[in-house]
Amino acid sequence: MAIDPKLIDVTTVADSSSEGQGDLMRSLKREIKTLKQTVITQDIRIFEMQALLQSGKGLSNIMNLSQLLDTFMAVVRERYDVVNSSVLLREDSEGNSKTFFQVKRFYGLDDFYVDERGRREPLYLFRLEQNNGLLWNIIQQGNVVSVRDLQKEPRFVTAWEKTALDYLRSDFWCPLIKSGEVIGILTLGEKRDGSQVTEADYSFVQELASIASTIIDSTLKYEKNQRILSNIQILYDVHQELANINDYKQLCFETIRNAVMAVKAQKGNLMLLNKTTNRLELTRAWGHIDGAIVDAVNAGRIETKSFEIGEGIAGQAALIRKPIVVNNRDEIPQMGGYDTFCICSIPVMNGNQLEGVMNFTNKVQFREDGTPVSDTLGRFTKEDVSLLQGIADQSAVSLNKSRLYSASITDRLTGLHNARYFEDTFYEMVTQAAIENAPLTIGIVDIDFFKKFNDNHGHRAGDFILKQVGALMEQTTRQGTSDHVYRYGGEEFCFVLPRTEATEAVLILEEFRRLVESKTFNYEGTNLSVTLSIGVAQTILHSNDPRQLFNLADEALYQAKKDGRNQVRLAAVPPAPAQVVSEEQKRPKV
Ligand code: GH3
Ligand code: MG
Ligand code: MG
Repeated sequence: MAIDPKLIDVTTVADSSSEGQGDLMRSLKREIKTLKQTVITQDIRIFEMQALLQSGKGLSNIMNLSQLLDTFMAVVRERYDVVNSSVLLREDSEGNSKTFFQVKRFYGLDDFYVDERGRREPLYLFRLEQNNGLLWNIIQQGNVVSVRDLQKEPRFVTAWEKTALDYLRSDFWCPLIKSGEVIGILTLGEKRDGSQVTEADYSFVQELASIASTIIDSTLKYEKNQRILSNIQILYDVHQELANINDYKQLCFETIRNAVMAVKAQKGNLMLLNKTTNRLELTRAWGHIDGAIVDAVNAGRIETKSFEIGEGIAGQAALIRKPIVVNNRDEIPQMGGYDTFCICSIPVMNGNQLEGVMNFTNKVQFREDGTPVSDTLGRFTKEDVSLLQGIADQSAVSLNKSRLYSASITDRLTGLHNARYFEDTFYEMVTQAAIENAPLTIGIVDIDFFKKFNDNHGHRAGDFILKQVGALMEQTTRQGTSDHVYRYGGEEFCFVLPRTEATEAVLILEEFRRLVESKTFNYEGTNLSVTLSIGVAQTILHSNDPRQLFNLADEALYQAKKDGRNQVRLAAVPPAPAQVVSEEQKRPKV
């Protein structure tokens, strides 16, 4: 409670009546005056302690960093009546030994500054590097520092010029110290009346800063824990999702999609190590970018670059087998006409075997309606890296397993599924179609006179043709359907078209046959061409038994060959099974 100094103002009551008494009275007056002064000082002190206590209490209830810093600055500004303020906090060091303090919140300052390269940047990117200069020495002592003199000239000229401190328009700085370490700096500008806060007045801010530092530190830790907790949840979800995917290509896609979403990156890609060429090949991409580009990469339609180990940031991460984060855009090669603010490459390791690298660029924020917008201030944090590392570790195991499986079901020459996979899936697909009573059509494709072709042009030219035919088959499959193509024998291929009537299938296959017939394939300077014969059969119509269905299509193929090749032939509808007539029925009716 404040004490009213007037209550003990006795100087007006007493007066001198004699000489001796006069001296006594004078010294008494002096003492009373000192006492009064002390009381006033103590009163201010008590008031300040109360203000501090109130402010400290106010701050300790806030668990959100931005809100906390805004309130802290507001309390200080009100106390000193200064026109601007900012709080800079120590950044997590990015592996290097440098320590930076970056603007986290500010008030009464311009939103932008011009960096040393002449670029207009948001003030939130303004940062100071800690060094061993005079200014930092004083800051480390924990004392409030006056940084400009009464003429408004900077007291620490070197530091001032090095980091263009004019942008902070500050008169004095108060270090934020936690456990003996500087965790941040509060800067304050001039008073509204143009004067400066005097040194005698520093104690309030100094003491509030020490309370605030503790609260800021615990808020930072709280927010960090919240992020870690959410990252664990993400990791768990990703694990669940990846565990259910067998298909290698889809697994690659889901891995990168999940990783991009997890760290709110703008885009990402997965490069896998080609163990034959020892190069990193772009396999899958995903992001909040032009869908057409992503689709083209994922469908393998655009020739994408491959990287040598050690080449570029991705290649470097693969070489050193450690994540690389570059959050300084001046260190990132800028390509493609858009800004790359930050980049992060994570090696995908299966034990000590390199599987590939995941790369991420830029960050996004999400509006309330869920639409992503570019977050030009966002950077990849330590937590992002450990989350991505976790996803990479998980996916490495799944990818490796799935890659081995994928190799075992893939024909090496054409890249189509092989006979083994055909056997694995055909039975199931036909059974499923029978259950659903849905049509499924199979088309068996055989190259005409291929033995002769090999004899005339050589086996390697033959291989080349097999690849071309395989690629054209893949092109023939319809988007958004579960059309399958296989190479199940030497020059024998197969289409399986679920939910497709034979009549429709014949049209599709006839178009494919014509396409192949019309093509000339250039192999080492020689123009080559082939024709195909195709046999077709459909469930329901021909047979619901997988083996029989296949045999009927094969018989149709045989007929096509017999009838002159280069044609599509639908299987004959088998005669209905003869009615079994019972002995009873055989007996003549009377
Ligand atoms: P048809 O029109 O009756 O089918 O005649 P064809 O010569 O194609 O039939 P056949 O089944 O007698 O011969 C198939 C040939 O396919 C035999 C083999 O030389 C060739 N072939 C099988 N696998 C491969 C392969 O992987 N590469 C190459 N280049 N040729 C292959
Ligand atoms: Mg054959
Ligand atoms: Mg043949």
